[in-house]
Amino acid sequence: MAEKKKQFAVIGLGRFGGSVCKELYKMGHQVLAIDNNEAKVNEFAAHSTHAVIANATDEKSLQSLGIRNFEYVIVAIGDDIQSSILTTLVLKEMEVENVWVKAQNAYHHKVLDKIGADRIIHPEQDMGIRIAQHVTSEKIVDYIELSDEYSIVELLATKKIHNSTLIDLDVRAKFGCTILAIKRGEDINVSPLPDDTIYEKDVLIVIGHKADLKRFEEEGM
Ligand code: ATP
Ligand code: ATP
Ligand code: CA
Repeated sequence: MAEKKKQFAVIGLGRFGGSVCKELYKMGHQVLAIDNNEAKVNEFAAHSTHAVIANATDEKSLQSLGIRNFEYVIVAIGDDIQSSILTTLVLKEMEVENVWVKAQNAYHHKVLDKIGADRIIHPEQDMGIRIAQHVTSEKIVDYIELSDEYSIVELLATKKIHNSTLIDLDVRAKFGCTILAIKRGEDINVSPLPDDTIYEKDVLIVIGHKADLKRFEEEGM
């Protein structure tokens, strides 16, 4: 079954709105790109279904674009918080179903929430959180909490420790954690010996105090 094509409008073609617009268009969706800056609109003519110059705070302009028929409208007006709020208000008054808005700060967020924005986006914070999770999960395969203080983690061996023995790494002495087992594909080496070698992409099953495990993960591998 072919995926149903949704209709989107993106208002404000800065870095955030511009990326949203280009990506939606690349995915094959109908995208109306709106900005009050002519140069921006020209730039996005090739990355949208239609690109138009309009002041989004002007209700009549939005009406003439048939904005109420769009399933999603993304408001990505950044620095001009007043315009962002007014545009959002107009869109919700016109009963656009999904109005997603980029917020600049906590105050902006609060107002957007009050006037009915359906989703409020903080791109920098959201991306920061995702990056943090990604960086950690690159090494942490699994995590078992034994108590408030102790855990067992599965850590993916990095290039940094490729070809090292447990003696080389000196895990217990340096980090106070014990490697219980080393998984390599289907094979599992339980109670590894001090001179067993670790290769990149092996999974190390490590037990220890949470703080020690964190230290090993961050500094030891
Ligand atoms: P980013 O950080 O995503 O690059 P920004 O936070 O710097 O964006 P701005 O550059 O302030 O955001 O605004 C994004 C776009 O919104 C600009 O291209 C600007 O021309 C457009 N814009 C601002 N006000 C309006 C408005 N009233 N109607 C339509 N477009 C507007
Ligand atoms: P220790 O009392 O520090 O364990 P040891 O003389 O018994 O020293 P070995 O057992 O040969 O020494 O191991 C040398 C070092 O290798 C240990 O100090 C420890 O840091 C590390 N090591 C060996 N096996 C493990 C393991 N399963 N998990 C974590 N570290 C290990
Ligand atoms: Ca900005």
